Amino acid sequence: MSRAETTSGPASGILGLADVQSQALVEDSADVVIIGSGAAGATAARVLTDAGLDVILVEEGAHLPTAKLRSDAYSSFKHLWRDMGFQVAEGRAFTPVLQGRAVGGTTVVNGAIIHRLPEPIYDLWAAEHAVDKSFSYRQLTDVFDQLDRELSVGPAPDAVFGVNNQLMQLGVEGIGARGNRIRRNVKDCQGSAHCNQGCPTGRKQSMDVSYVPQALARGARLYAQCRAETLHSKSGRVSGVRGRFLDPVTKQKGPRFSFHARRAVVLCASAIQTPQLLQANGFGRASQLVGERLQCHPGTGVVGVFDNPVKLSFGATQGFETTHFWHERMKFESVAMPLEFAAARLPGIGPELMHELESFNHLAIWGVQVRAQAFGSVHKNLFGSTKIQYDMLDSDIEILKLGVQRLIRMMFAAGAKQVLPGVHGLPDRIDSADEAERLFSLPNDPRLFHCIAAHLFGTAKMGLSKYSSVVDLNCQVHDAPGLYVFDSSVFPTNMGVNPQHSICAVSWLMSERLATRKH
Ligand SMILES: Cc1cc2nc3c(=O)[nH]c(=O)nc-3n(C[C@H](O)[C@H](O)[C@H](O)COP(=O)(O)OP(=O)(O)OC[C@H]3O[C@@H](n4cnc5c(N)ncnc54)[C@H](O)[C@@H]3O)c2cc1C
Ligand code: SF4
Repeated sequence: MSRAETTSGPASGILGLADVQSQALVEDSADVVIIGSGAAGATAARVLTDAGLDVILVEEGAHLPTAKLRSDAYSSFKHLWRDMGFQVAEGRAFTPVLQGRAVGGTTVVNGAIIHRLPEPIYDLWAAEHAVDKSFSYRQLTDVFDQLDRELSVGPAPDAVFGVNNQLMQLGVEGIGARGNRIRRNVKDCQGSAHCNQGCPTGRKQSMDVSYVPQALARGARLYAQCRAETLHSKSGRVSGVRGRFLDPVTKQKGPRFSFHARRAVVLCASAIQTPQLLQANGFGRASQLVGERLQCHPGTGVVGVFDNPVKLSFGATQGFETTHFWHERMKFESVAMPLEFAAARLPGIGPELMHELESFNHLAIWGVQVRAQAFGSVHKNLFGSTKIQYDMLDSDIEILKLGVQRLIRMMFAAGAKQVLPGVHGLPDRIDSADEAERLFSLPNDPRLFHCIAAHLFGTAKMGLSKYSSVVDLNCQVHDAPGLYVFDSSVFPTNMGVNPQHSICAVSWLMSERLATRKH
């Protein structure tokens, strides 16, 4: 089913606030109730329904079919992003923690970059967290192959490669590194460079156009604008979910709901929301690790000004990357964005900013993300809101500096006439790569950089013992029969590459196991 054919309403299998408004209480039951319809949740629904199980998906965000998507940044932030993109981690700097909140989760607004879990990371997880006792790298690889086939994964094609991506290839090769076209989960990409606002043509195989409709076709029900709050138990077993229908944009309240799970409740609400559900319901306490060990890939971008038009508005949003320096804990990617997104990254205000924006057609943007070693945490504050704490270590900032310097070198190697490094302490514009050397004399202060965090891990980690991990090797919460976590909360560490494929693969393997497990 294409995205355009997926609609809300009882016939579609998706019920939102408007469909249930007249009811006092919405009740339903299924073998498995899954919270969250993003990478982990939709994959679990696809696998569990394929195995013949009855599934309910609970999703806090709304369902936006392609026809309802608006291409401007404001509408996309309002309807598809959590807290309009304003969720932040507090530390020495405030770091935006970006997440989607919609049917399809963050995959609706992500860059469609597909990577497999690097084998050295698997080996680390095996050596230090016993993950090899749960699944082998061979098993993961088989699932990756199947995901590739089902989600149309392939390199960005010539027709939509676009100048931003071409220039990055020149830049990477110009500094003597190797790079590659990004493998993306897109079918017949139109090169609209809009992946982060929701694909306007339904070509990106985000979960809302792939595994969600597949699960619905096999009988799953999806409740949208439906926020899970409490997990209830019966005879010592987690047996259901309660909460309320709520429009996440207008905050209009709808009826309460109670969904009974005959076999399991699976948390797939992301590494930020899953630990909060565990904390609110008092699960996984023995380890004292729920909401701790938060890791991410802090990242920032550099802008290059070129004589010839770059036209960021055309091409695969993210089409070229290099993992050449992965062992140094950094990865580089091209990234296109609309004028309104770019405006936030350009120097100056008023007439000066207007002048910058006039040159928009001549700008290239590339980013670096760091496999940071810092750990943060997720809790609720006194007012019940999400409180994320995160601070890069000095060693992480040193890697970020080297990454920014390499981006600047790549820009000049590709022929940029000027570079806007976006680092406080450097000039707004620099004319040569040599000027970037000043980066290394700046203090290790995260406030000097415009970092964001979009890849999130570790807040309910997997392991053998209930004293050193939150979930066991089947991803069942220790001491909470019937309650599982299949999202990247269970990953023991970050991984240095984009995580969607690994999240889908782990959720896939755990869902297969859940489907066949005796209860
Ligand atoms: C801008 C951006 C670009 C990215 N680009 C890429 C990329 O190109 N490649 C890549 O691999 N990764 C990318 N990522 C990261 C990737 O998309 C995420 O890591 C992945 O989607 C996370 O999967 P998940 O299932 O854990 O959570 P999500 O996909 O975020 O899904 C969780 C869902 O749970 C819902 N939820 C949360 N709490 C509740 C509750 N209490 N009740 C009901 N529902 C709830 C949320 O609304 C959300 O829809 C990007 C991320 C961002 C922000
Ligand atoms: S570049 Fe445009 S057409 Fe291609 S997947 Fe992204 S949003 Fe869709």
